[in-house]
Amino acid sequence: MQRVLLAEDDPKLRGQLIDLLSARDFVVEAFEEGAAALDFGINQLFDLAVIDLGLPGLPGIEVVQGLREAGLDQPILILTARADWHDKVAGLSAGADDYLVKPFHIEELVARLGALARRAGGGLQTTLELGPLTIDVRAKEARVAAQRLDLTRYEYNLLHALLYRSGQVISKAELMDHLYQQDIDRDSNVIEVFVGRLRRKLKQTTEALSIETLRGHGYRLVEVEQIE
Ligand code: CA
Repeated sequence: MQRVLLAEDDPKLRGQLIDLLSARDFVVEAFEEGAAALDFGINQLFDLAVIDLGLPGLPGIEVVQGLREAGLDQPILILTARADWHDKVAGLSAGADDYLVKPFHIEELVARLGALARRAGGGLQTTLELGPLTIDVRAKEARVAAQRLDLTRYEYNLLHALLYRSGQVISKAELMDHLYQQDIDRDSNVIEVFVGRLRRKLKQTTEALSIETLRGHGYRLVEVEQIE
């Protein structure tokens, strides 16, 4: 399951892309306006971005630049309405990895996204590490040293989100966004329950990691200072 950041102001095309990408197991976070897309991209988790260059407010090119300036290296595919080579060149210079000229066939977009995801390899961070903890993103497996953690899907997703931004505080709302694709059962107590379970499972395997609770702010996965 990969999360696509989509910025497209044309409501019809946006709706089609959401439907068709969702049907292919992508989770789509869609925005019709550049600044909101950039804000999401900098502060939330995503694997791939599809950015229309002609966006109201903040232009798509500045969204691409902003994401790269924030140090994000996920693959970005730009959409351009015009066949003008200037747009493509500007988009690629700004840090985009690929482009499609409208109108395009949805299958081509899906194929390009798949190719970008594969090519990115490390850019998509197929393994994440902190101390003795390793997550294999493709296999959806978490290990502490050589021991495989037996996690439910939600616990795994939670650990993935915490590890992806280890050392940083992640709010309950963000964790809920990461756990649930739709607005189902959005009860923040659920997050507390999952964090509690995950914390116990981690503790059974290692003392080197801790999920800290920062009241009113969220959670943070950190390495515990070892006292010899
Ligand atoms: Ca547009």
